[in-house]
Amino acid sequence: MFEKLKEDIGMFSSFFLMIPQLTNSKLAIDTLRISEAKYRSLFENIDQGVIYLDRTGVVIAVNQAAEQLLGLPRDVIVGRKFADSCFKVIKEDGSIFPEEQQPPMQALHTGKPVEGVIMGLFNSARQNYIWLVVHAVPEFRMNEHQPHQILMTLTDITRQKQSEGKLSMASVIFNTIGEGIFVTDKHKKIISVNEAFTTLTGFSQQDVYGKNARFLHAKKHHLTSDDDLNAPGTGLNSWQGEIWRRRKTNPDFPSWTTISEVKDANGEVSHCVHVFMDITHFKKAQDHLGFLAYHDPLTKLPNRLLLKDRIDHSLQTALREGSQAAVLFLDLDRFKGINDTYGHEVGDGLLREVAKRIKNLVRKEDTVSRYAGDEFVVFMENIPDAKNPAKLAQKLIETFNAPAYIKGHRLKISTSVGISLFPQDGQDTDTLIKNADAAMYRAKKEGRNNFQYYSMELTTEAFEKMSRERALRQSLERHELILYYQPQVCLKTGKLVGVESLVRWMHPTEGLLPPKHFIPIAEESGFIVALGEWVLKNACMQMRRWLDEGLKINKMVVNVSAIQFLRSDFVATVERVLHSIGLDPCYLELELTGSSFMDHSDQTIKALNQLVAAGIDLTIDDFGIGCFSFNNLKRIPVKKLKINSSFVVDVLNNANDEDIARAVIALGHGLHLQVIAMGIESNAQQNRLRDLGCDEGQGYLYSSPVLPWSTVFRTLVAE
Ligand code: C2E
Ligand code: MG
Repeated sequence: MFEKLKEDIGMFSSFFLMIPQLTNSKLAIDTLRISEAKYRSLFENIDQGVIYLDRTGVVIAVNQAAEQLLGLPRDVIVGRKFADSCFKVIKEDGSIFPEEQQPPMQALHTGKPVEGVIMGLFNSARQNYIWLVVHAVPEFRMNEHQPHQILMTLTDITRQKQSEGKLSMASVIFNTIGEGIFVTDKHKKIISVNEAFTTLTGFSQQDVYGKNARFLHAKKHHLTSDDDLNAPGTGLNSWQGEIWRRRKTNPDFPSWTTISEVKDANGEVSHCVHVFMDITHFKKAQDHLGFLAYHDPLTKLPNRLLLKDRIDHSLQTALREGSQAAVLFLDLDRFKGINDTYGHEVGDGLLREVAKRIKNLVRKEDTVSRYAGDEFVVFMENIPDAKNPAKLAQKLIETFNAPAYIKGHRLKISTSVGISLFPQDGQDTDTLIKNADAAMYRAKKEGRNNFQYYSMELTTEAFEKMSRERALRQSLERHELILYYQPQVCLKTGKLVGVESLVRWMHPTEGLLPPKHFIPIAEESGFIVALGEWVLKNACMQMRRWLDEGLKINKMVVNVSAIQFLRSDFVATVERVLHSIGLDPCYLELELTGSSFMDHSDQTIKALNQLVAAGIDLTIDDFGIGCFSFNNLKRIPVKKLKINSSFVVDVLNNANDEDIARAVIALGHGLHLQVIAMGIESNAQQNRLRDLGCDEGQGYLYSSPVLPWSTVFRTLVAE
């Protein structure tokens, strides 16, 4: 293009140079006119700007293109020096182009062409600079060494210059920006990455070149992904979102990613530019903010908002499942005094300690919240019964008995607790909290350091149960437990075969209490472990005494509660007790209820086998009531089944009960087990059971449970 321009201009310039050589002939004049017209047209219509300057640098001719490039009409341009201030000329770097260095001046001074100089020229019409490539060619007259004029051509390269500028700017941005950038082709294959990409991910261009963009996704990435960008019909051409990215060595990180499509001339997606930044710190800050919105900054416990949210949510489930829940409202007694006396720092330390103590006592599923100043709320979901929260309330009260040591001060505090229950005391969170708060105020009025239910009856019941529990615990030290013994006889011979030990509690005010009044409480509170050990030890000691006296009894039968068997190190306890008393294990028989085997875990089966291996006999008590899997019967090493007295009572009158007794006897014998019937009160019952094949019996017919010095044992042995 440029070559062609030079050619055209060359022809045109030689036309001017030829003028003096032409003859005056008409032909010559005509030819001259035609040529002039032809070349003037060429001069005017070529795309490039053309300017003629005389040897002083004054413009003598311009074409239309030059007029447009300068943004000035011809009559303003012609007659002015090119260096005139109305032609503002700058260099590529934006500085003023000194006159003597400008191409036409250089061509004038040196007499040599100056080619391809880039310069900026102010366009007065557009009021901005345009960029030009300028050639300045000196023209000489015959025999002259000084150029008599300069031909200057101007080619507009503004567009090219702008896109070059954009490109170099993009390149600078690409490589200096802090965000990671990678570019994928239309097949989503990575073709280019920037420096920040490598810094952020540890992957170099080589590591990822040709890999699918998904290669950079972390395994845990599960959010809406850039796939959506290309989903047909979405019409999107950019996507923004969070993507978990992998690193070459370090852990994955969350990134905020923008993916933009680049389309080709046909409107087809040719590339995608993925720009991402590491938002780990932002997310941490966000999480922290989220935590602060729902937690108390001092104790880190859930605040009111979160508490309410949790209770709301839990009540919906409770309503659906018909379960119970409780709200415990705690207020520290006389906390204000501590704050005023020792200052807020100590007060804060105490609140933190209180929070810790409460948290240590509650179940995993309970919510502990700092409700306000010195008020805490515990929410218990899915409680087994209405009395359950009282236990926690009592433990909470007790946990404050121990003094707290804060900044060298020994602080003694207590708490008052109010309890409300769902659904009876309120159907919604606000009512439940309000009623627990009201109950707490009553606890304060009652002298602090205690708890109250919203319902008065429940408070009374809970206190009764607690005082019974406390009294039961004291029964051991106060020697209030007593063992009664009931004989077991062989149904064929009527001879004494064993003695069952049955515990009683001589209550200081209520008199002799049967097991049903205290065994369930002992089981619930865990006291059964100590109680059971006491029974085992005393029953074995009695057996030792009887044997020493020469009384012929085969077995001492001891009842073992399921909780006792499952919770304690039962086998070791039994072995230790027998050893300390010097009683052969063959004299001991343990009566276990079906629930002892319910879990039929390997551990349970192992424990049962250990007992049997030691020589102890096992019996299943109350066989036929409760649930017991027959499958278990094959796995566990029992020797005897005991038919529950409820079937014995009606064995004569009720065909069903007789059938059950018969079935249990047949089942036992089928498995080579002995069968004993419990609750035989009459000869008729005894005879019927004996006819059905039952081996042994126990009941009032032979003797009710009696104290060990009763003569009944000797009588039965003698018979
Ligand atoms: P169990 O092991 O089935 O004990 C038999 C119960 O039936 C005893 O009640 C006994 O007094 C009663 N009984 C005996 N013969 C007759 C009869 O002919 N007719 C009627 N109607 N009842 C009769 P007790 O002593 O009140 O014991 C009740 C339950 O308490 C026992 O049932 C046993 O499960 C539990 N128990 C007793 N002592 C202990 C113990 O030391 N540890 C454990 N864990 N539980 C014990
Ligand atoms: Mg029993």
